[in-house]
Amino acid sequence: MSEDLLLMIPGPTVVPSRVTRAMSAPILPHRGKEFSDMFVEQMDRLKKVFRTKNDVYILCGSGTAAMEASLSNTISSNDKVLCLINGKFSERFSEIASNLKANVIELQFEWGIPVNVKSVKEALDKNTDIKAVTMVFNETSTGVRNPVEEVGEIVRGTDAILIVDTISALGGDVFESDLWNVDICVSGSQKCFAMPPGLAFISVSDKAWRVIDANDSMAYYLNLKNYRKDKSHAPYTPPVSLIYGLRESLDIIDEEGLENRWERHKDMANIAREGIKALDMELFCSDEAYCSNTVTAVKAPDYLDVALLRKTLRTRFGIEIAGGQAHLKGKIFRIGHMGVISEREVNSVLTSIELVLEEM
Ligand SMILES: *Cc1c(COP(=O)(O)O)cnc(C)c1O
Repeated sequence: MSEDLLLMIPGPTVVPSRVTRAMSAPILPHRGKEFSDMFVEQMDRLKKVFRTKNDVYILCGSGTAAMEASLSNTISSNDKVLCLINGKFSERFSEIASNLKANVIELQFEWGIPVNVKSVKEALDKNTDIKAVTMVFNETSTGVRNPVEEVGEIVRGTDAILIVDTISALGGDVFESDLWNVDICVSGSQKCFAMPPGLAFISVSDKAWRVIDANDSMAYYLNLKNYRKDKSHAPYTPPVSLIYGLRESLDIIDEEGLENRWERHKDMANIAREGIKALDMELFCSDEAYCSNTVTAVKAPDYLDVALLRKTLRTRFGIEIAGGQAHLKGKIFRIGHMGVISEREVNSVLTSIELVLEEM
């Protein structure tokens, strides 16, 4: 295993050694006061990153655990769920809802194009009994940033709750849970937080709590009511070392300043996009105003073998980039620039790609 593989994939991302060092501290008893104080403090600090006054809970699991919790707590069989789909991760919400035997209405948009707000409004007008709307803010599979604020404005005026996956953007790109009327927002540790995988975060609005309280959920480990009962402790043994890592990661975010961090991600995205265009390649996202600030998806030119590009970058330069998912496999490649990534890393991946292309 290479010690210094540069992860330019959209998660997991490079973890600063400060965070890994913090995680090597001795394990505290998870019911003791010292750990409880630390745990409560990190939940509180997360609210600032979510930009919310709502409760934020820390779950043990990858991001998908929080996605599942957002639906398994609010939805029962036959409940109507509107899923806005324009990529692999937004599709996942629909799969989870189907598993819960919900009555799923899929609003499909072409991959690479943002969610169309007008069609969301039409669907909500036509189905006044929709209980939840799901969407992904930063669709990692396509590099598209969806208009959450506009959708939030529409959902706010209905009885439905808005569930947003912001796993690949929170702590990196601008996101305003409360201002954008997001009822349940989910995120994870291994993307813009620059932590190892293993933690998922979820915020819950009062409107969402009312839905949860009225819902007869089958969830056990991820039953949010158990997390609300005693906020000073997790209901089950939390991953203690990851909480140490989270504290360090939140320290790093505080030191940089959340808004400066947003700015840096935007700058890195601009460098990546301009660099790609300078290499005569096209962005996959249809409209630059909707391009992701944390991951850049690139259309692979006809002559380019994506698997070979990735392999060469890995073996020659120690750089890992991502390919396409599902039907986009072989058609696009994706450069992650989230977490603690700076110009040095972005330029290094662009230069390495240029060298490989020249040789091809
Ligand atoms: C990474 C990611 C997930 C979560 O995947 P896990 O493997 O469960 O952490 C979900 N949604 C989006 C948009 C993601 O980028």
